[in-house]
Amino acid sequence: MSDTIAAAATGGAVAAIGIIRVSGENALTAADNIFRSKSGIKLKDAENRRMYYGELIDSSGTLIDLCLCVVSREPESYTGEDTVEFHCHGSPVVLSEVLRFLFERGVRQALPGEFTKRAFLNGRMDLTQAEAVIDLIESESPVAAHNAAGQLRGSVGVKMDCAYNRLIDIMSHFHVVIDYPDEDIDDFKALDYMDELRDIEGELRRMLDTHDRGRILREGVPTAIIGRPNTGKSSLLNALLGYDRAIVTEIAGTTRDTIEEKVLIGNVPLRLIDTAGLRKTNDAIEKLGVEKTLDALSGAGLVIAVLDGSEPLKHEDYDALRSIPPDVPRIAVVNKSDLPAALDINELDALEIKSCNISALSGEGFNCLDAEIQKMFPEFTASSATGAPLPGELITNIRQAEAISRAAESLKLAALALTAKVTPDAVLTDIEAALTAIGEVTGRIMSESIISRIFERFCVGK
Ligand code: GDP
Repeated sequence: MSDTIAAAATGGAVAAIGIIRVSGENALTAADNIFRSKSGIKLKDAENRRMYYGELIDSSGTLIDLCLCVVSREPESYTGEDTVEFHCHGSPVVLSEVLRFLFERGVRQALPGEFTKRAFLNGRMDLTQAEAVIDLIESESPVAAHNAAGQLRGSVGVKMDCAYNRLIDIMSHFHVVIDYPDEDIDDFKALDYMDELRDIEGELRRMLDTHDRGRILREGVPTAIIGRPNTGKSSLLNALLGYDRAIVTEIAGTTRDTIEEKVLIGNVPLRLIDTAGLRKTNDAIEKLGVEKTLDALSGAGLVIAVLDGSEPLKHEDYDALRSIPPDVPRIAVVNKSDLPAALDINELDALEIKSCNISALSGEGFNCLDAEIQKMFPEFTASSATGAPLPGELITNIRQAEAISRAAESLKLAALALTAKVTPDAVLTDIEAALTAIGEVTGRIMSESIISRIFERFCVGK
């Protein structure tokens, strides 16, 4: 039996509604102590998942709020325990008062992620679904939200369970051979098992192949903003973010480190990296900045090259454009369109780089930039016709990817062992390693300390 916990399930800001969630053995008793339903019904006798209107009162009978209350009994609640939710007015004061009354009645403050941890421990969801909850809450683009929702529905868990059960089947055959040495695995059967092992390995590798796209979905397309000093890179970053993040000065070489910020262009999540200007320098700190710029370029999924449209192209601009690794999508932003134009756009056309005229200062031309970026990444437009992933298809979680990779490697070894006709127990060892890794993905096999670490990433109230 677990103790009873409570927390605000909604954020700490003033809002129309604020929800307090209570879960555990004494949830109904504690809630009955502070709630008087209009109909006179006690929460312990309330219907499951029905809203009751009533008053929240403290021990002296003082009215705190008028609210709606809903009861979900174990095992069919989110946590798998008796749960009560108070839908109050969204005043942080009211919410903390309600929590205080509950704490006075033996309920304790929930730890970060504790509701979802209980849901997992009570078998209401597997670990991939629990991790999808945090991905869904933290999603920064519609496609990322759709993917997380698909995983919350169980897309990863279903595939993992299928692989798990197929391996258990193979294992049981091998155990028979080990337990009854008179039995043998004939060549024909061994071939069957090998096909099956390779097929499961293939499934796992196909899942792994989605991880690069999944990571971009979660973290944004790494986007390096490059250009010689003073072309307006920091001004562009600030304009895209809508607030001043980078220092803008007339002194060349002001941005000496790289700055990273996320922004959504249409549905495309970008992780903008404002780099130090690319130029030859003797300043040791600026040199480091230039090195970091080159690092950012090598890992970029998009490069925005900023040019000063009020000046002709200089050889440093050509150096910047040439520094973009081949195959990395790129766009030239010809900045300062509010000043008389001096840059010959034909020179850019000759370099076969798409360009947009903008003014980071006045905001002119950003529609062109937004449209071009969205055209470059159609997969982020939430429609399957544009190549958007199916909900839940992309593995976004590095922990899951690492375990799936280990499982695939073990299956490769198992198939090799079978080919080499080693003893069945050696093949079994590899299959067992794969099973353990698959069990880790869904949380079937997992140590308490790792589980705790996973749920610590959650916010309080989730
Ligand atoms: P960075 O070194 O490439 O990061 O350039 P900054 O963003 O620091 O800008 C350098 C200078 O150009 C600053 O004085 C900015 O105010 C100015 N600047 C940036 N964008 C524009 C623009 O669109 N129009 C004009 N007129 N000036 C700009």
